[in-house]
Formats: sequence, C-alpha cells, structure tokens
Amino acid sequence: VTGEPSSKSEPLPRPRPDWAYFLDVDGTLLDFAVRPDAVRADGAVGELVDRLVARAGGAVALISGRPIADIDRFFPGRQLPVAGQHGAERRNAAGDLSHRAPESDRLAVVRELAHEAIARHPALILEDKGASIAMHYRAAPELADYVRTVTTELQQMLGDGWCVQAGKCVVEIVPVGVDKGAAILAFLAEAPFRGRTPVFIGDDRTDEHGFAAVNARGGYSIKVGAGATVAQARLPSVLAVHRWLDQDATAPLPDIGLTRVS
Ligand SMILES: [Mg+2]
Repeated sequence: VTGEPSSKSEPLPRPRPDWAYFLDVDGTLLDFAVRPDAVRADGAVGELVDRLVARAGGAVALISGRPIADIDRFFPGRQLPVAGQHGAERRNAAGDLSHRAPESDRLAVVRELAHEAIARHPALILEDKGASIAMHYRAAPELADYVRTVTTELQQMLGDGWCVQAGKCVVEIVPVGVDKGAAILAFLAEAPFRGRTPVFIGDDRTDEHGFAAVNARGGYSIKVGAGATVAQARLPSVLAVHRWLDQDATAPLPDIGLTRVS
C-alpha cells in the first residue's frame, strides 16, 4: 500500500460517484448459507448500500437470481432498483415493475413434477419463484447430476421459450432471453444509470452475462472468488467487496486482494 491516490499497479480505478453500480446479492454482498432462506443481511450491509446510493446519485441496482420480494426483505425500508429472477422481473429507479416471462400452460404440471422430484431427496430444495424454478443442492453435492437431469427434462417439457442456467449448487429453469446482462442493459437505458460507466460485481456463472454486458459498454467487471470468468478483475470475498465499495477515495487503498484477471 503506497497511499497514493492512484497507481498503475491497481487493477481497477477507485469506485467513482459518476459510475453506475450493478451488484449481485448472494455471494457478492451477502455470504451463502446452506439453505437460501437462511441467508441474512445485517444492518451494516444495508448502510453500506445506502452510502453507495447517496454517493452515486441513486445509480445503484441489485441484480439477483432471487425474487424481488426476497431482496426487499434483505433491505427493508428501501425500494432499491432491482432485477429479480435474473431479470425476469425488474423494478426501475422510478419504482415501475416489469415482467419478462412467457405464459405456458405446462408450467403447472412442471411445477408438480419438480416437487415430486425433490420429494425423493429431502436434502434438495425447490424454490418456485414464479417466473423461474430453482433446484438447490448445496446440502447434497452428490445430487448435482440428478438435479441437472431433472431440470433438463422439465425444461424440455416447457419447450423453446425456456432454458436451464446452472449456478453454484443450483440449477434453474428460466425464460429464454432473461439474463443478468439483459437486465443491466435495460437499466442503462434509463435514468439515473443512462450515460454512466457501468460496473458489475458478481460471483457466479450466471453473472458472466453481466460481466460481458458491462465489458461491451466500456465498463468494469469484477468477479468474486475463483473460477473462469470474462470479468476484468477479481476480489477474494464478500468482505473484500464491501471494503472496495466503501473506500474513501482520499484514503490509502486498503489491501483487499483486488487483482487483475489475466
Ligand atoms: Mg451470486
């Protein structure tokens, strides 16, 4: 740490107030738990997001695989811009909600079959989010192949309008054309995000769409943790994300393990 405001060895510039911030939630702002419904957000994370919102003139959006209702539970008393279910639902800065999910009369049957498939394995968790269906196997990694097979079969029943997206210990059936990159581009077409340099931070395979989108827009992409990525830089942990987002531009850069992805 040199204490200089900027150095060529820094893989990324410091966060700037004129950027647009897009943040994944699980594994990025919040640490994982064995069950998705056991994840908790303490008040400090909310205050961190509040500070960022104030600094960036409101240009902060959460981009999550979770339903918007879950995100609002993590950040009570606020109505943050948010893309839920990878963008199948989106609430913009004006508070307007939009949905991108095809209707399918087979959805009810597929839901029923999904419940039957997980009922045979108590360690699996089915998360029916409305516009998407997720099967979690964090408590039973040996069931990864089973979950992949079942979700692929169910997606084939639903047809071309749906696809399978795999993440960390989860496989999801989501509408085609719905991904985090598309969600970020939708925000970037609107105030207060429009015209700003986008930065996206995420930790999972489904975040790669978001990294590609901000790279294409001349922005910055940061991957949390290990794994192949198209992101430009890497942070080692959720705590490092908090520290990177929360730094004072005039203070020495803390050693948080920010590295350039080669
Ligand atoms: Mg994540």
